[in-house]
Amino acid sequence: MLPEAKLYIDGVLRSAAGGKTYDNIGPWTGQVVGKAADASPEDVNAAIAAARRAFDETDWSTRHSYRHELMTRYRDLLVANRDKLVEIVRHEVGSALGAAHSAQVAGALEGATGLIEAFPSIEWQEDRGRRRQYGFDSDRLVVRESMGVAGAITPWNVPLYVNIGKVVAGLLAGCTMVLKPAPDTPLSGSIMGELAMEAGVPKGVFNVITSSDPTTAGEMLVTDPRVDLITFTGSTGVGKRIMEKGGPTLKRLFLELGGKSANIILDDAPDFAARVMRSIVSFHAGQGCAIATRLLVPRSRYAEAVGALEKAYAGFATKWGDFNDPTCVMGPVISKRQLDRVMSYVELGKREGARLLAGGNTRTDKGGGFFMEPTCFVDVNNKMRIAQEEIFGPVLVVIPFENDDDAVRIANDSEYGLCGVVASGDKERAMRVARRLRTGSVSVNGGMCIAPDLPFGGYKRSGIGREWGREGIEEFLETKAIAIGA
Ligand code: NAD
Repeated sequence: MLPEAKLYIDGVLRSAAGGKTYDNIGPWTGQVVGKAADASPEDVNAAIAAARRAFDETDWSTRHSYRHELMTRYRDLLVANRDKLVEIVRHEVGSALGAAHSAQVAGALEGATGLIEAFPSIEWQEDRGRRRQYGFDSDRLVVRESMGVAGAITPWNVPLYVNIGKVVAGLLAGCTMVLKPAPDTPLSGSIMGELAMEAGVPKGVFNVITSSDPTTAGEMLVTDPRVDLITFTGSTGVGKRIMEKGGPTLKRLFLELGGKSANIILDDAPDFAARVMRSIVSFHAGQGCAIATRLLVPRSRYAEAVGALEKAYAGFATKWGDFNDPTCVMGPVISKRQLDRVMSYVELGKREGARLLAGGNTRTDKGGGFFMEPTCFVDVNNKMRIAQEEIFGPVLVVIPFENDDDAVRIANDSEYGLCGVVASGDKERAMRVARRLRTGSVSVNGGMCIAPDLPFGGYKRSGIGREWGREGIEEFLETKAIAIGA
């Protein structure tokens, strides 16, 4: 059993008012792996009040080097607790060990370091010189200031990674914060509070609310006038609702939403078959916003690509769903609800006329948890719903294209615009395609576009704003112009 996920409010790690808890269900077994405090509206109010007070009544937002030192200490504590974090994401998130040792935990910890390293590059004050304007001579400054109280609402798929991306950036920027993790992954949020307390983060500056109800606590943060900014990662549908609900208080919004990214392998790509084989969707059972879940291959090499995929899926059949294998990157999906949702897309794909090349079944023989096979549809048309909608499971769809223009057209024919992947033997050709993709990040010829010092975020309905790097900290800042009479 995992430790109980507690609330962290005004510097105190505690149970919910009234002591209510809920079950934390483990995806590998479908059984209870822990308990979590089930926050009441009273608790959410207390967290917002504490964050507001800490922002308005302390000097937290103006002590830049102190925050830098404190966040470095916080990062060190997170790193010192690496093994604990790995156990949390394995049991609570259903992460396989291979995924825990990459994006889930290792990537999250590197991300904290990346933000700490980016912090000194923030320009807190810029001298814009003297100017005569409307008859007034002034010496002018542009200063950056902390936005205020930030509500962070996060998903269950890579919870530590997202929590760290928001909390370390927001606290470095001098905001005070209330973190509301997803109901399925409460401990990945609660541990952030526990370690913040240990690091000595002043009371009220950071607060964590866990709740079984997916909407109430989040909507309280979004609608409360005491909260200045919402940083949200999750589905596009909930992102739209947050924009609507945040409207009356004109909330600053920073939204990291869904994706349906295209992996374009051009006809001259070196190691064509091997590249196609590597494109199977397996990492964390496909539950990643940035995973390229649409594979675009040239029609001239389509049969070869399908053959390579058949081989790849056959070879992968025994390499997933092992709790103890450190090389395994795919375990179960998060919940029964998610399993049903993903399986409904498998049925939809069949009805839409795509050909199921591999997988497509749930796997009760893997254990009592929420397992389904890595799945691949070929002969997919980009108009099909399985090509347009985010499935968020281990499902790849394969679409043929005629030429580079057609590949770009198909890739951009999506409401999403998070990431893209391009491969070609001719770097300039690959770059021409990459520049035409309407996405926030692109990997070219095996490059990695996700790194703690690079901004990450979406075009179109994949989001607003950028996380990570200097840009990820700047999302939490306001800009003020000051003119001093000369
Ligand atoms: P979700 O949108 O269902 O929930 C995300 C969070 O929002 C949870 O904490 C949930 O409790 C909360 N929430 C739900 N309804 C709310 C409401 N009305 N008001 C306020 N908060 C509300 O997403 P999920 O199923 O937890 O996560 C999967 C989604 O997250 C996928 O769409 C995935 O692409 C996206 N995601 C995006 C990124 C990115 O950086 N772009 C990263 C990870 C995940």
